Amino acid sequence: MWRIIVPTDRFTLLPSNQPTADNIRDNILQNPGFGSHFTDHMAHVRWTLDTGWHAHEVRPYGPLTLDPAASVLHYGQEIFEGIKAYRHADGSVWTFRPEKNAERFRRSARRLALPELSDEDFIGSLKALLAQDHAWVPTPASDSDECSLYLRPFMIASEAFLGVRPAHEVDYYVIASPAAAYFKGGIDPVSIWLSTHYNRAAPGGTGFAKCGGNYAASLAAQKEASANGCSQVAFLDAAEGKWIEELGGMNLFFVFKDGRVVTPRLTDTILEGVTRNSVLTLAKDEGLTPKERAISIDEWREGAASGEITEVFACGTAAVITPVGELVTDNERITLTAGGNNEIAKRIRTKLLDLQYGRSEDKYGWLT
Ligand code: PMP
Repeated sequence: MWRIIVPTDRFTLLPSNQPTADNIRDNILQNPGFGSHFTDHMAHVRWTLDTGWHAHEVRPYGPLTLDPAASVLHYGQEIFEGIKAYRHADGSVWTFRPEKNAERFRRSARRLALPELSDEDFIGSLKALLAQDHAWVPTPASDSDECSLYLRPFMIASEAFLGVRPAHEVDYYVIASPAAAYFKGGIDPVSIWLSTHYNRAAPGGTGFAKCGGNYAASLAAQKEASANGCSQVAFLDAAEGKWIEELGGMNLFFVFKDGRVVTPRLTDTILEGVTRNSVLTLAKDEGLTPKERAISIDEWREGAASGEITEVFACGTAAVITPVGELVTDNERITLTAGGNNEIAKRIRTKLLDLQYGRSEDKYGWLT
């Protein structure tokens, strides 16, 4: 049985008159891939300087009508979020710590001079969309099936105006896309490319915000990574080229043989992941010693060689927790001499997935 979530009543429902047929949707859900199929509806809220947020609605999914002068198309005034909805064994549907995404969305909005959206509207929009499209949340076939419905809230400057200033008209949307595991290899360790030509973020810039421009800026490095057989890019700090920051779409953790679990401390050049924050809590629960501090590429190289560092893993909503097998650069490959079993990464990964899929007690109240 499915639990129907009651949408907040401020969202008006305009149902699609051409919803996807059940058999076609079921076919898609058998093998959804990532990010290429979309549900029948989207949530929308409009903002204008005069009125503020208004016109909350859930309407049929479809192309946007945008003036060619819309400032997002010219100056990239845009932010987004990524969060998943999980189906539990009893059929109910849950999101994981959506208030953290809402808070980060407001942080991103402030940096991009966009209007802030309340928790009520952010979480309300997810609930309203899920109330309509809950049949698109896949049912896991087994405990190792990591299917979910990926939710993508985003906000764009839609005012038709070519002057360079914050837009006076803005639109917020949520679209949803059924998803299988992000990396086809599942828990298999991935190779990471170390970007030495390109930086992702600079002090005073937008690195801590989830805005499209950061991802556009990472794509040339991502292309280098693919050409070198790597699936993701690791970025160093722009000022000294010495400190490890994060991957293009995930945060990094280093496991030391004495039980320390270290992740780069937050600066304005690192995106604070909801998964990163959750791993810090779960690691402590596992009797490990989580630490947030600066960690240099030299420490990675030396720790990997000496066996001091026993595991490296990446984490994020899309890929959960993925062991990093090696770091590849123009002229070297850094592999862990003590590496191999990735036991800690697997343990924390299982804990996190058990929580998200309702297989363990939600003792932190992380599920909505
Ligand atoms: N860093 C970057 C640059 C990201 O795009 C993401 C994905 N949102 C993350 C880290 C991980 O964040 P989260 O755990 O909230 O998905």
